[in-house]
Amino acid sequence: MSEFEAIIGLETHIQLNTESKIFCGCKADSWGDPPNTNICPVCCGLPGVLPTLNSAAVEKAVLLAAAMQSDSIQSLSYFARKNYFYPDLPKGYQISQYDEPLARGGEMLLPLDDGQSLRVRIAKLHLEEDAGKTIREKDRRLIDFNRCGVPLVEMVTEPDLRSADQAAQYLIRLRQLLRWLGISEGDMEKGQLRCDANVSIRQIGATGLNAKTEIKNVNSIAAVRQAIQAEIERQIREVSQGGTVEAWTLNWDEDTGTLHKMRSKETEADYRYFREPDLLPIELTDDWKTQILTGLPELPLDRRMRFTEQYGLPEYDAEILTEERSLSEYFEAAVAAGQVDAKAISNWLMNDVLRLIREQHGVAANLALKPEHLAQIVGMVERGDITTNTGKELLDRVNESGQSPQEIVGAEGLAQVSDEAALGRIAAEIVDSNPDQVATYRGGKTTVIGWFVGQVMRETQGKANPQAVKKVLEDLLSE
Ligand code: ZN
Ligand code: MN
Repeated sequence: MSEFEAIIGLETHIQLNTESKIFCGCKADSWGDPPNTNICPVCCGLPGVLPTLNSAAVEKAVLLAAAMQSDSIQSLSYFARKNYFYPDLPKGYQISQYDEPLARGGEMLLPLDDGQSLRVRIAKLHLEEDAGKTIREKDRRLIDFNRCGVPLVEMVTEPDLRSADQAAQYLIRLRQLLRWLGISEGDMEKGQLRCDANVSIRQIGATGLNAKTEIKNVNSIAAVRQAIQAEIERQIREVSQGGTVEAWTLNWDEDTGTLHKMRSKETEADYRYFREPDLLPIELTDDWKTQILTGLPELPLDRRMRFTEQYGLPEYDAEILTEERSLSEYFEAAVAAGQVDAKAISNWLMNDVLRLIREQHGVAANLALKPEHLAQIVGMVERGDITTNTGKELLDRVNESGQSPQEIVGAEGLAQVSDEAALGRIAAEIVDSNPDQVATYRGGKTTVIGWFVGQVMRETQGKANPQAVKKVLEDLLSE
């Protein structure tokens, strides 16, 4: 097995989260809606209608191209008709882009386990419309046109990936980026991110490319990894037994975990591409581009690096805190809110706040527990005003009620008892009523102090500061 390497390129289709479709006013997000409820003469391709370009789709695609470090976002790009017949494609063609796409070039950096990163080059990125959906039943086919005209970005990588794991990593990073930019939810199960994989193998050390197969219809990142791995192994088996790999299109069957050969693939010439006569070219003026790019946030990898430098966070923390944009912003807001150590904030975020977020299936920005609340709670724990356990309890309470931590602490007397006078009274009572243990301590078995501390903690319902208790007891017992 080790004498071969895999050559993998990915073609992804990304559904942009615009309000309306790319060429008409119909609602774009039909998830869960009854079939054929978000349609009009334009997206159904009735004769005599004209498409109008939705500028929001262009803006989101430009953001993505910029985030992929594309070196050439075109100031002029053209739509083209891709002609083919399919029941869920009512016009008989798909409006796409062909010879003059919105952007060429770019790259995605994938951090690898050994600390290096893999550069995956982007060949091109273009806008197009989605087709409808064919619902297959036993003896009939039903067509739902809701998805017709939903804006898609098609993005094609160069064949730079070398394993099924790397392909999965690429999709994970891409999905993170889409959510970070706020241009797509990137949910593969909902078809918002779709992936076809081109796979070939070659002898290690060889330079040419061999015939590749294309895997279609994979609906989750785990399935992409599985399908590519299965195909790499199949090709190696084929070649090792003296056979050859043919340029098939393969369909992944999720239920059986196997690949099936589909129709032979159309070649580009079969599509009879030509410029779309009903649409003007996309003219991306410098002003418009500048305006779009003001909406480009700091990107995940940059922010991750800045977190390690600016706040002295370990790589591990920075990676987790920048997995999701809202969480990274929450972290910075909490650090800015109080004079609390950034690492302490990070610890509380990674453990307790992430737990709350997961329980709510939400994002950091939607928590009732605000960044300043977190900073206050961590501050109280750090100063010894409350115990760590009380702090954790407070997090939940604040998140449930939306009250400020001080309000809850004040109203319920949760503050840690570290007042020496108060502790002294409680400790003295316990010492006086337990002469046997006192004698044991004074006889040299000083570990019995743990028992005394436990008694005081019980008396104060856990609100005493254990260090302060120990100190008071030591003073009393050595008298
Ligand atoms: Zn429509
Ligand atoms: Mn496409």
